[in-house]
Amino acid sequence: QSIKDFISETIRTIPDFPKEGIQFKDITTLLQDKRALELTSYMLAQPFRHKSVDYVVGLESRGFLFGTNLAQDLNAGFVPVRKPGKLPAKTLSETYALEYGEDQVEIHEDAIFEGAKVIIHDDLIATGGTASAASKLIERLGGVIVGYSFIIELSFLNGRDQLTQNVPVESILIE
Ligand code: 5GP
Repeated sequence: QSIKDFISETIRTIPDFPKEGIQFKDITTLLQDKRALELTSYMLAQPFRHKSVDYVVGLESRGFLFGTNLAQDLNAGFVPVRKPGKLPAKTLSETYALEYGEDQVEIHEDAIFEGAKVIIHDDLIATGGTASAASKLIERLGGVIVGYSFIIELSFLNGRDQLTQNVPVESILIE
């Protein structure tokens, strides 16, 4: 059995969560399994091992779970991108469209230095709206995105088309 198959089997799908028609990928069952936890960390770091990275930017909230660990594995710092009103110091915000309405993400304006090499990490990419808004924040601060890292990519939603072009997108599981 491959590592990817093993990891995949520890993720459960919850129908109609958080609303009807959504098949929610629940990674809490992955986190509970000590072998899946270790193998997921290993697989996330693997594509970037020989890259020079200054920061891993983790997206609230499930991007925090593996984000700090990934940063340590890549000898980088960790920076959170959060929902509005959560970060205490001065922030930059980006608004992005949802299916119904809009949402916002924020970053501390002193979180990264100009020219910093950044990897954006989240547990899952669906439409790409969240990761794309985070990309804009980093680029507004003068950061350079050198990679995207996800555990799961819902490829039928074409989220990677929303991301900064010509940057590697590394997803452990592509559905
Ligand atoms: P997007 O902005 O790409 O449409 O949605 C991605 C964001 O929504 C991520 O922050 C991700 O955590 C969350 N998300 C959307 N669908 C799912 C899902 O099925 N499972 C999990 N774990 N997160 C999801």
